[in-house]
Amino acid sequence: MIDEGYTKYECEWREAPAVAASAIEELNTWRNRLHERGLIGYYPEHHVGFGNVSIREGDTDAFIISGTQTGDIARTDERHYSRVTHCDIEANRVYCEGPVQASSEALTHAAIYALDPGIRAVVHVHDTNLWGELIDKVPTTSRQVSYGTPEMALEFRRLYEQTDFAERGIAVMGGHEEGLVSFGRDVEQAAQRILRLRG
Ligand SMILES: [Zn+2]
Repeated sequence: MIDEGYTKYECEWREAPAVAASAIEELNTWRNRLHERGLIGYYPEHHVGFGNVSIREGDTDAFIISGTQTGDIARTDERHYSRVTHCDIEANRVYCEGPVQASSEALTHAAIYALDPGIRAVVHVHDTNLWGELIDKVPTTSRQVSYGTPEMALEFRRLYEQTDFAERGIAVMGGHEEGLVSFGRDVEQAAQRILRLRG
């Protein structure tokens, strides 16, 4: 089942001006490359977008993430990003500001940033083939756990501590069909970890 785009958490959104174009230039370049490869996109039959990218802001827990329902846009710009200023994973609550609301998977990104301050970028994509090939072959979250839940955060913690997720920087989301997630020291590393798998 495709559960993308349904906001399970509470999103406290404050409408605000876009971040500076320079702040998201690299992030947006990789976002558009992933979109060209179909790893970020839109399910017309479900009217929902899929896939999202983010970068940590400085040494804080805040991050800039692609906005909700932007998957149908081939070339995005700073108007399509939101700043997540704070997340309460336990309460399933995200606080964001910008011209658009944060992606409905901001909580997944927050859970990954919480693993290690060295994680500077997170990429979430959808790919039917990769998901089918890699499930249980790379670190995989429980099929019982869907995205955007506190349980998913615990699953990433488990993978980080008990598998080679920390070294590989990539995981399959077992309970989120087609979903894979990667992280890196920058968005290029995070994106390349996925693109390399596609050959
Ligand atoms: Zn997804």
